[in-house]
Amino acid sequence: MTRVDFHCHTKYSKCSNLEPERILKLCKKRGIKGVMICDHDTTKGASAFKEVLLSNEDFIFIPGIEISTNRGEIIGAWVEEELSTKNFPDVTEEIREQGGIVIVPHPYDTFRGKRFKIIEQDLPFIDAIEVYNSRCFLSKANKKAAQFAKKHSLKQTAGSDAHFAPEIGNAWISFNGSTAEEFRQALQKGEITIEGKRTPFSVLLYAFGHRVKKKLY
Ligand SMILES: [Zn+2]
Ligand SMILES: [Zn+2]
Repeated sequence: MTRVDFHCHTKYSKCSNLEPERILKLCKKRGIKGVMICDHDTTKGASAFKEVLLSNEDFIFIPGIEISTNRGEIIGAWVEEELSTKNFPDVTEEIREQGGIVIVPHPYDTFRGKRFKIIEQDLPFIDAIEVYNSRCFLSKANKKAAQFAKKHSLKQTAGSDAHFAPEIGNAWISFNGSTAEEFRQALQKGEITIEGKRTPFSVLLYAFGHRVKKKLY
């Protein structure tokens, strides 16, 4: 089974310090064969990762973006161009125009200010729910997300939401295959397994400190 960490940030997110090269190295070291780079409100991190990847053709890479819409955070996977709007549901239209899929990350993590509070009327605009996010402070947030996805037959995804080195590979999607296209098909068909562990509190505390420091200086 091939493992993909389907939610990672780079230094192109203000709250992360990860160099694309470092992410690739850490993934390889930790048995992760693929990654989605989805920085906050930009595809710059995805573009930078693509360049680093040039000589690593067997590594699965999905370009993406985690965009703060007027309703909260939405992930566009298989998205390479910057988006021109932050309005939901216009954002979802732009993601789909690029051939991407629309994912709601951590929809029940009440500790996140930018959480997208999904309601049934949103269903036509959503393709998948992130049912495991390592940064969810309470495990019930992930459980509720999985229940919602099952109830509405939505695709399910998972990722570490890594912002710092220790987090890379904390959660992953396993599938049978070796290419990005095979991965996408497995995701569509739901022929995947989701596994992961929660980010230790010490790392979350460090991340919080990093945010405060960046604001102060
Ligand atoms: Zn962040
Ligand atoms: Zn994120």
